[in-house]
Amino acid sequence: MATDQQTATNDSADELFMLEALAAAQRALEAGEVPVGAVVVCDGRVIARGWNRNLTDNDPTAHAEMVALREAGTIVGNHRLGGCELFATIEPCAMCAGALVHARIQRLVYGADDPKAGAVHSIMQVLNHPQLNHRMKITGGVLAGRSAELLQSFFRERRERNTRESPKGRADD
Ligand SMILES: [Zn+2]
Repeated sequence: MATDQQTATNDSADELFMLEALAAAQRALEAGEVPVGAVVVCDGRVIARGWNRNLTDNDPTAHAEMVALREAGTIVGNHRLGGCELFATIEPCAMCAGALVHARIQRLVYGADDPKAGAVHSIMQVLNHPQLNHRMKITGGVLAGRSAELLQSFFRERRERNTRESPKGRADD
């Protein structure tokens, strides 16, 4: 992946679309959701945006990528999004990676790796599995620092809030 990451750093179009995905992640943050964002790009323009809505919708499947794919499918009028790219602020999980395959997404661009749930290469490899027919181009590490920073500050703030609300902290553990 190192080569891809280096290429991505110089690719201003990728960075431009990743900024759109980061703006979507910001919307999640404002709603108190884990700040992850995604956009679907077809023919060089953003056709759909998504951000985490798990709490808002009481929906375990409402990850940013899933929300963006659903909207893109509606807009294109097809469950296949063959000519499209998806930009996500973090490495997609197994569910989202599976959905990308079902949608026949042509290319995935993501920001930070997710060492806990990433299913592109971190904990498993769902995309380009030898037994799947669909091949997807993958570029990781685009504006990775910004995506990671957004997530880290969210979790730091949440920890601090929890500590404030229970002054004994985790002393009972
Ligand atoms: Zn996911």
